[in-house]
Amino acid sequence: MMLIPTHHFRDIERKPEYLQPEKCVPPPHPGPVGTMWFIRDGCGIACAIVTWFLVLYAEFVVLFVMLIPSRDYVYSIVNGVVFNLLAFLALASHCRAMLTDPGAVPKGNATKEFIESLQLKPGQVVYKCPKCCSIKPDRAHHCSVCKRCIRKMDHHCPWVNNCVGENNQKYFVLFTMYIALISLHALIMVGFHFLHCFEEDWTKCSSFSPPTTVILLILLCFEGLLFLIFTSVMFGTQVHSICTDETGIERLKRKHQPRERRGSWKSVKETFGGDLSPSWLNPFSGPCDPKPLRDRDWVRQAASLSDTDNTETTEEQSEERKDEDSVEVTDE
Ligand SMILES: [Zn+2]
Ligand SMILES: [Zn+2]
Repeated sequence: MMLIPTHHFRDIERKPEYLQPEKCVPPPHPGPVGTMWFIRDGCGIACAIVTWFLVLYAEFVVLFVMLIPSRDYVYSIVNGVVFNLLAFLALASHCRAMLTDPGAVPKGNATKEFIESLQLKPGQVVYKCPKCCSIKPDRAHHCSVCKRCIRKMDHHCPWVNNCVGENNQKYFVLFTMYIALISLHALIMVGFHFLHCFEEDWTKCSSFSPPTTVILLILLCFEGLLFLIFTSVMFGTQVHSICTDETGIERLKRKHQPRERRGSWKSVKETFGGDLSPSWLNPFSGPCDPKPLRDRDWVRQAASLSDTDNTETTEEQSEERKDEDSVEVTDE
């Protein structure tokens, strides 16, 4: 083979088979268009079920231990409506975060024809993920649970059994926000209920026996505190990520090197779906429509090789660095 400066393959040393794009073929049975996105991961499914169970437990205690037995109807109705609305929005956000494609890169698209069609110029490279045989656009990372490369992957969250990426970050942020709000609301109601019960006769402040009432309330208190802390921290981290336009993986990889950032307001608007409006809080309204990838989104400058993503996750940084293949301008 004669090497022409702008036409050669390179980085073939470790896994030669990965650098033979003719061996990359799209999966034989790609799912029909419009198939629902759902990750078949036992641990993730179990965590998602536990999440729902915990929200429904809080719902049960709030309604049947605190609000329905209360004789203050205005207090019960107002708090019941607010709590149920927030719980519904939390569970709807959870479903949307779990069932939305987070931005998966087409599997097996690193074919010879595709690489050729990009018509790479000198100094340009494309990155190929050897695990799912796809060309990785900038800021995409491979997730070993989803077994796909995900655009703007932030992290894989077992609680929503999905990656948090470009297309579902809004739902994840709303999920953490609504869970933090129902936790806070439940804690305030438990506080009032305890005060009320201490002032009145314990046998009259709930339809359950006093010991059962106390156990149910303490468990709710414990759950509320734990979730409030966990989801508030997560919410803060996510909002910070969106405002700085830097994903969790990018922040971990960057270490002490400053990263060039784009306009933060633009990033916030893209994530939440347009200009500031009530639809930002609505889990049924999507983020900005994902732009289809153009040819130049697949191609990167060779000069940025040192700081581009070579990671699948931080733990596997060095391993992935060895695995990831870059194909430079190319023909034989
Ligand atoms: Zn991949
Ligand atoms: Zn994932």
